[in-house]
Amino acid sequence: MTKEKIYLLSPKKYSPEVIAVTFAKTSRSPLSFQEIADELSDESSAEFHEKWVVGYGHASVAEHAVLHIAIENISRLAIESIQSNRLASYTEKSTRYQKWDLNAFVTPPELDGHPLKSEYKKTIKLLFKTYADSLAPTRAIIQERFPRKENESDEAWDRRIRARYVDACRFLLPAASHANVGMTANARVLESAIRKMLSHPLIEVRQIGEKIKEAAQNEVPTLVKYAEAVDYFNETERELSAISKSCCAPTAPSGNGVKMLDHDPAAENKILAASLYRFGEMSFTQAQQYIESLNTEERAEIAEKLLGKLGKFDIPLRELEYSHYTFDLIMDQGAYYEFKRHRLMTQTPQNLSTNLGYITPKLIQEANFERPYIEAMEAVTETYQKIAAFNPYLAGYLVPNGFNRRVLATFNLRQAYHLCQLRAAKNAHFTIRRIARKIYAELESVHPLLAKYMRFPAEETWQEHI
Ligand SMILES: Cc1cc2nc3c(=O)[nH]c(=O)nc-3n(C[C@H](O)[C@H](O)[C@H](O)COP(=O)(O)OP(=O)(O)OC[C@H]3O[C@@H](n4cnc5c(N)ncnc54)[C@H](O)[C@@H]3O)c2cc1C
Repeated sequence: MTKEKIYLLSPKKYSPEVIAVTFAKTSRSPLSFQEIADELSDESSAEFHEKWVVGYGHASVAEHAVLHIAIENISRLAIESIQSNRLASYTEKSTRYQKWDLNAFVTPPELDGHPLKSEYKKTIKLLFKTYADSLAPTRAIIQERFPRKENESDEAWDRRIRARYVDACRFLLPAASHANVGMTANARVLESAIRKMLSHPLIEVRQIGEKIKEAAQNEVPTLVKYAEAVDYFNETERELSAISKSCCAPTAPSGNGVKMLDHDPAAENKILAASLYRFGEMSFTQAQQYIESLNTEERAEIAEKLLGKLGKFDIPLRELEYSHYTFDLIMDQGAYYEFKRHRLMTQTPQNLSTNLGYITPKLIQEANFERPYIEAMEAVTETYQKIAAFNPYLAGYLVPNGFNRRVLATFNLRQAYHLCQLRAAKNAHFTIRRIARKIYAELESVHPLLAKYMRFPAEETWQEHI
């Protein structure tokens, strides 16, 4: 009997393209992975990819070639377009735990030689200066609330309380701010990401797409070689934007910013039925009829068995995915930066703009800093309007975290568990906590039986901040 064998094809020994071909070849070769890999060279792997991945469209093979790309000093606006590729992994510089270099921002190449360039730079510098000026007065209030512990150094004290004041100050940081992001992606995702970037309306994003392609080609010479701009993206965007601008006037936010548009009223029964189906041999219709025949207490008992033993770090069973909820959301840009990281759901953000107004955090008012804050936000609004008249995409660079953004999102109950519990946690930023809590309230109003098992901090404090 041949013994089982489990081992790594180490990237220290084999290139990503060789690893991808090795796995692809197991489909038809009787050899072990090790033997296949040892027979291959970079050249023969490239030939294989040209024939199968590029020629015959067997694109999933490229998923076995994984790259780690370090991207530095690009705008947070550009990071959005990179992170819209949901099948990759990202970690970026935090606005909560780092200090910001006041000259570290992007001036887009579109403004070269343009009369608005100096006003753009002046407005961004005003935002950075106001941000820097806001730190001391807000810190003083937080220091009073959270005094230094015995023998605590200045640095340790600041580390402990920093997020509490920076969370309010960060509303002033514009989308042009420099950030770094680490991206781990397989070559298939990367190819698709490069295509999107090369088709993007902003020069910065197109240039990043070129540079990522160049860097990736050193590791995977064949798999991203043919990634080019896609006419479909450009033309569709242009034509739909024209209809969108002429059909409907922009609407100011109303209500609490969290509006559930749509849900499946039968989802609770479907989830419970699917959970029985998973462990039985009946048809789904049978399982559903059984659940429908139960009274509320009996269904609650099954719900308890499905979710009652969920531990803090456990993921609920996949059957919670037999549900959907669609929300029209308005949240500040800072909260959106966090919301967008929830890759499994479907999200449609509108472009950054100043037209939906901005939030003023309570700490800014308490620190007597409201006037400079409002002056900076009003200056942005004015410059935004001038640049947007020339190029609305470009004007997005100016928009700070405090301005509101509209996002359409569809997700299922399993994703909602993750989003709501993670983002309502005490250490989460107060505006995303508000969104997570409100989404939960909507879910609970339609599906109380299954939503009630979400765990939240007992005492809620986000209301103190806004
Ligand atoms: C306290 C805290 C601090 C943070 N600080 C930073 C920071 O400094 N910088 C930063 O960039 N981000 C930061 N984040 C964001 C964080 O890295 C995640 O991007 C974000 O919380 C979304 O979570 P997720 O990836 O679990 O969610 P989703 O993308 O919603 O995924 C849902 C679940 O699907 C599974 N999943 C999805 N994709 C994969 C995958 N590729 N591989 C394996 N499993 C997958 C996981 O189980 C995941 O929990 C922070 C988050 C928290 C809560």
